[in-house]
Amino acid sequence: MSENTQTKTQIIGLTRAELTEKLKEFGFEPFRTKQLWHWVYVKGATSFDQMTTIAKDSRSVLEQHFTLDRPKAVRDLVSFDHTRKWLLEFPDGNKIETVFIPEEDRGALCVSSQVGCTLTCSFCHTGTMPLVRNLSAQEIIAQVLVARDGLNEWGKRREDCLFTNIVMMGMGEPLFNYENVAKALTIVMDGEGIAISKRKITLSTSGVVPMIERCGHELGVNLAISLHAVRDDLRDELVPLNKKYPIKELLIACRNYPAANNARRITFEYVMLKGINDSDADARELVRLLNGIHAKVNLIPWNPWPGAQYETSTRERIQAFSRIVNDAGFSAPVRATRGQDIFAACGQLKSDSERKKGEKVWLGDKPQA
Ligand code: SAH
Ligand code: SF4
Repeated sequence: MSENTQTKTQIIGLTRAELTEKLKEFGFEPFRTKQLWHWVYVKGATSFDQMTTIAKDSRSVLEQHFTLDRPKAVRDLVSFDHTRKWLLEFPDGNKIETVFIPEEDRGALCVSSQVGCTLTCSFCHTGTMPLVRNLSAQEIIAQVLVARDGLNEWGKRREDCLFTNIVMMGMGEPLFNYENVAKALTIVMDGEGIAISKRKITLSTSGVVPMIERCGHELGVNLAISLHAVRDDLRDELVPLNKKYPIKELLIACRNYPAANNARRITFEYVMLKGINDSDADARELVRLLNGIHAKVNLIPWNPWPGAQYETSTRERIQAFSRIVNDAGFSAPVRATRGQDIFAACGQLKSDSERKKGEKVWLGDKPQA
């Protein structure tokens, strides 16, 4: 972090209107907003010096009053399957994780919305973190910028970029930090900046029912619901938020989700826990519940973490479950577990600083180029 950062205005995370307003305070005309926006969100500038279309004098005024500082990547790990994980540290010492999952011709960045999570889903490692705070819009966008930096994809043609999608499936419950998540995603979707469209963004929620409609209206992103159980008694246990917003209410919110249709289905995430939620009867009940919803199902083999009380369902069980759901007309692929050797798989995210000694399974840092 550079000197005086505390008193400088952070540009990342400001809306265009806010940026214009701030720039005006220091005598800059409105057209500068567009210029800066392009440098920051298209070219990935990390310092004002790089902004060669702006006169030197103006650059030094900007330098005096504004900052583009990113959080520090204290770890940058690559899995044998090319999944990549960054452990980012903020100036207050809090750390979060961001994971990039590449596929052949695209890739999704799994973005965190909170440090830890206030919810305590019994199968999720993040839910065991004692410290929780919301991330600011700046801290959410910074994850995207750090990934673009690391993947070396600034200024490249879209078809040459592997980072195409965003999933709000990292640490935290995004709908408990809606304002900041909404601000960050609006900036990320801006067509003259990072320009990742709402169709390429998926927000996953454990079921914060009152926020779902607003999310669909205002952001229009794809929705994923962490369902995981088909009966309230079991879901109360696995996803304690269910006690507040039970399955029936959750499914009504899904039926009414403004941004869903036949071509843009709601994903129902279902973590496969041996002997807990993986029977044929569970699969049939799932099909019954989803009747009439624009839905697809994502079966997630549970990813173990030290001290957890569950086991992953067998492959045969997951396949049998998937077949029942598929035969009823819902696509039900089994999500591949990625980045396990760097502890980057779904639900394993928990900042390094909160992990007990001996729990770490880092296989090593990214080899230096
Ligand atoms: N809080 C949000 C988004 C983050 S979690 C939510 O719960 O939806 C992203 C997904 O990972 C959720 O579906 C969550 O239930 C799932 N998950 C959590 N722990 C897991 C684990 N150990 N194995 C597999 N999936 C897990
Ligand atoms: Fe929080 Fe999601 Fe983990 Fe539940 S599954 S504890 S809501 S991060």
